[in-house]
Amino acid sequence: MMFRNLVCPVCGASCDDIQVEMTAEGIVAKNACKMGNAKFQELASPHRIRQPLICQGGEMLPSGWEEALDRAADILASSSRPLIFIGSETSCEAMEVGLHLGEYLGGVVDSNSTVCHGPTAMGIQEAGRVGATAGQSKNRADLTVYWGSNPLESMPRHMSRYAVYPRGYWTRRGRFDRTVITVDPRRSLTAENSDLHIQLNPNTDFELLSALLALLHGQQPHPSAEEVTGVAIRQMEEMLELMKGCNYGVIYAGLGMASSYGKHRNAEMAFHLVQELNNHTKFVIGALRGHCNVAGFNQVASYLYGYPFGLDFSRGYPRYNPGEFTAVDLLRERDVDAALVVCADLVSHFPADCASYLGEIPMICIDIASCPTTMLSDVVLPGVIDAMECDGTFYRLDDVPIYFQPFTASPFPFTASNQHTLQQLMERVRGRKEAGS
Ligand code: SF4
Repeated sequence: MMFRNLVCPVCGASCDDIQVEMTAEGIVAKNACKMGNAKFQELASPHRIRQPLICQGGEMLPSGWEEALDRAADILASSSRPLIFIGSETSCEAMEVGLHLGEYLGGVVDSNSTVCHGPTAMGIQEAGRVGATAGQSKNRADLTVYWGSNPLESMPRHMSRYAVYPRGYWTRRGRFDRTVITVDPRRSLTAENSDLHIQLNPNTDFELLSALLALLHGQQPHPSAEEVTGVAIRQMEEMLELMKGCNYGVIYAGLGMASSYGKHRNAEMAFHLVQELNNHTKFVIGALRGHCNVAGFNQVASYLYGYPFGLDFSRGYPRYNPGEFTAVDLLRERDVDAALVVCADLVSHFPADCASYLGEIPMICIDIASCPTTMLSDVVLPGVIDAMECDGTFYRLDDVPIYFQPFTASPFPFTASNQHTLQQLMERVRGRKEAGS
């Protein structure tokens, strides 16, 4: 049987043209890239967690749903400052419940952007952003700048669906109507396929952006800018001429900009550059958001509580201070006493001292497959795969909400989605708190 127009739940591109055929031999995912296809294969993966697990005597043992949920609720209800970390590969609806749970418990709620495009979000707060939807840029952009990003390997369909190769209304000849610039210290695959590669020295994005802004203001950058950035002033001028001379330009900022030295100041400078380029032509900027619904958490948290990530509820109202209330910092400072991790493998991806502290505190994990985080957890609740087994909403990289529908049902009789699991957990926690008060 063939299912059409499905949404891929892997990266920020949220491709919504996936076709899935389920045959006796397995699953065939058409239109999906390699990363997307691998995710669709998870549906029938032997690594899938198919029942709740509880840690007993250092061993992860299968348990009943009620028992596992009770144990998870006990951990959260007895904690004085839990960390609730909601990864990106789940719906906004699940994120909303997780945020309410964090508020109810007086804990801290954080998400992937804390170690991803958090600095870009902070740059937006500092400077504001001139943005556009992916469709606008597809139809209009005759200049595409990939700054600190390598979509050919990290978001394989970005160039073919949104940015470079598709024929747009005002870019009818597709790639022939577009110029591509890549700013990257490495000669990446994307750089090789660009018209101009600006190979700056690592961690000099801020200096290069400042020099471009100086040139835009009609000033000469300090001669040391060449030595620091490794980019000749002549090449900066060439890049700037292309940017000023296009009809519509777009910068896709990647983690190379957000996570190199300068962090949110890089993003802030890039947003200022784009604002000033609009004195010459139409120019926009957006983040190339790697994870599926990482933009969704920023949207939902901002909408509900006013801040995009790293929300602390310990005083009964939301507070935000990246570096203090963000997951890595809290774990490094040993400032939380329990953790609920939803659809994220923190033990693999966080610094070693944070991962080691996660092993010391009680931890609950909701995930679809075994990983180092599930191995260190006290309770593992099986995850439901969004966009395949339940419906919901993702925010695409350009902050456009994409509603998705499933093509099969949750394989579990006890939960229909991660949102449903979190709602059940919330009810139990509430029951315990109210009984204790
Ligand atoms: S580009 Fe991203 S969203 Fe599109 S199919 Fe590949 S992994 Fe999925």
